[in-house]
Amino acid sequence: MPEPPVPGNCLTRVLVHTPAHSQMAGALSYWSEAPLPPGTLVRVPLGQRELLGVVWSIDSTSASDATLDPAKLRPVTTVLDAMPPLSAHWRDLIRFAASYYQRAAGEVALAALPPQLRDMSSVQLERRLKKLATATAKRTQAVVKPATETDTAPTPEPDAATPAVVLTQEQHQAISQFHQQPGPFLLFGATGSGKTEVFMHCTAALLASKPEAQALVMVPEINLTPQLEARFKARFCPLYGADAVVSMHSGMSPAQRLNNWLAAHSGAARVVLGTRMAVFASMPQLQLIVVDEEHDPSYKSSEGARYSARDLAIYRGHLEGAKVMLGSATPSLESWHHSRPAEEGGRYLRLEMPSRIGRGQLPLVRRVDMNHQPKSCIISAPLLAAITQRIARGEQSMVFLNRRGYAPVLQCSDCDWKSECPHCSAYRVFHKIDRTLRCHHCGLSERVPRACPACGNPDITPLGRGTERLEEHLAELLAGVQRPDGQPVRIVRIDADTTRLKGALESQLAQVHTGEVDVLVGTQMIAKGHDFRRITLVAAVNPDNALFSSDFRAPERLFSLLMQAAGRAGRDETVTNQSEMWLQTFLPKHPLYEALKKHDYPAFAASQLKERQQAAMPPFSFQALIRSEARSQEAAQGFLTLASQAASSQSDTATLLTQITLYPAVPMSMARIANIERAQMLVESPSRTALQRFLSAWQGVLHSTRAHPECKGVIRWAIDVDPHNI
Ligand SMILES: [Zn+2]
Ligand SMILES: [Zn+2]
Repeated sequence: MPEPPVPGNCLTRVLVHTPAHSQMAGALSYWSEAPLPPGTLVRVPLGQRELLGVVWSIDSTSASDATLDPAKLRPVTTVLDAMPPLSAHWRDLIRFAASYYQRAAGEVALAALPPQLRDMSSVQLERRLKKLATATAKRTQAVVKPATETDTAPTPEPDAATPAVVLTQEQHQAISQFHQQPGPFLLFGATGSGKTEVFMHCTAALLASKPEAQALVMVPEINLTPQLEARFKARFCPLYGADAVVSMHSGMSPAQRLNNWLAAHSGAARVVLGTRMAVFASMPQLQLIVVDEEHDPSYKSSEGARYSARDLAIYRGHLEGAKVMLGSATPSLESWHHSRPAEEGGRYLRLEMPSRIGRGQLPLVRRVDMNHQPKSCIISAPLLAAITQRIARGEQSMVFLNRRGYAPVLQCSDCDWKSECPHCSAYRVFHKIDRTLRCHHCGLSERVPRACPACGNPDITPLGRGTERLEEHLAELLAGVQRPDGQPVRIVRIDADTTRLKGALESQLAQVHTGEVDVLVGTQMIAKGHDFRRITLVAAVNPDNALFSSDFRAPERLFSLLMQAAGRAGRDETVTNQSEMWLQTFLPKHPLYEALKKHDYPAFAASQLKERQQAAMPPFSFQALIRSEARSQEAAQGFLTLASQAASSQSDTATLLTQITLYPAVPMSMARIANIERAQMLVESPSRTALQRFLSAWQGVLHSTRAHPECKGVIRWAIDVDPHNI
């Protein structure tokens, strides 16, 4: 029974996690005994459940308030007042992200909080906070005491405990620009130019200048960069205490995630290192946001609110008056375009660091024209000779191919049978190691049939090649080759299949680092981030596919991948002069490869931007995708078509259509996954504001269209603003 309101009770609006497209998208109303400041965490009843919620501002103009029946309101169950409320800036960030990415604010807000908070009572939270405070005090005493005893200064001097790092001229220039200008900045620095040192320097200066200031440093994939955490901890923990640097990523235990979140929220953590989710960290004194490898697609979320952490970082910096620095050797074309000269309309300041520190020249890029190689040749003779040479010299090579498994398809030589997945519009991949056919989309795995299931022919053969087959092939080619110590050549493969077990990636990487491995074979996962000092040859076996992709961002991703891969070669000073990147291609004269040969990102970016401008594509236009999933392709497309027709017949959306192009509904490039048909519709506009206005107005239309009887087959739909994969 709901308690009747008593005089003196306060109306409180609370944001809870409601289903993504439910009509209860706004805050819900409750009674509380005393007025609660916005940002306070509470527990409230909803139906039979009790949910974590955030007190939201009271919106007196809200229409729902007029229809409120006080007798029907229920009271707030618990107030989690052991911790300070979430700041107004944080709430503004949530509000913006929800409205820009067309999701419910409750969904975005609650997803940004550590999951463990959801099940905590007020007492439990209080206990946790006390425990953390004592632990912090103990550790900080242990770390900082020796320094303060000998030092009379009350605040630590950053440079005193820091090992003196000699900065290059380029680093000096970037840092001084950072101090003089408001930003946002795009640090365009070659692999090995010392971008991380610049980030650390700017962080150090900030922490030293303001006793409470906090910095957020984001990386695309924190598991690939434990070195970064170690470097930041080594630099800042001796100065500011053991808890001054914390991480935030999805790989942490729920308890650790809550602890680190609380450390950031309380201000105890001065530096937060994290993946894209960290952009929502509650940091009341945030003054600096760094986004390293800002071009990386993993900054864009592909589920729930499909936000871009990089774009939100820019907005958050603007909101909180924090400086923002993006960094990359191959910036996204959007960021590159934004960092054009201010007189041409640029909004970011570009800081350039073209030189590699102590690493000699960039690797020489060599192209093998596969048109002149024997048909069905996998590793060309010149590439094989170069790898053999490396082995003889005791150096390492890295060969990558973006396809795992043994062969992407099995085929019958008699009839037309191919190893299609019965549930997806894709082939099942042949994995020779356990003789299975596996679908990489729905996970279906079956033993390879003895004979063709269609005609009974026992001769079914692998078509094309994946990393497993490449590894086997290289082993055959290098069978007669010896290492300098007379031992046979050692090959190791690193891809999603060999690293499935926890710790497998680390141990395989360790093998590479200690020199136990001569040739490393893998997917693009080996081309990213790892610092292999003894690799002097990097080869892309078949990179051409991306040049024929229907996705207009594919060339950008390929260029960045190849540049990054090339950066893996010759990171050790003693061997840089021999380091090479090999490309096997049927299009050796392609402008992308020409630009790569010169390591000329600006030239590549200029040509791509010109094409995009001519075709009116982002960043010269703004896009959103509406995706729908249904039991049949007809239903999935039908829903989109109906919603599109409704947009032009309803007055609130129809008036906005003058600046909007609604394209026809089409099947997605992967049209079916696990028996669910997927369709999409592209929405485009030359104006970001117009697109935003249209999408907000169209939301209601989409909801009511979904309720039509002919849309019964629709399972779900979602809006993706600034989509990455089209
Ligand atoms: Zn057959
Ligand atoms: Zn499948």
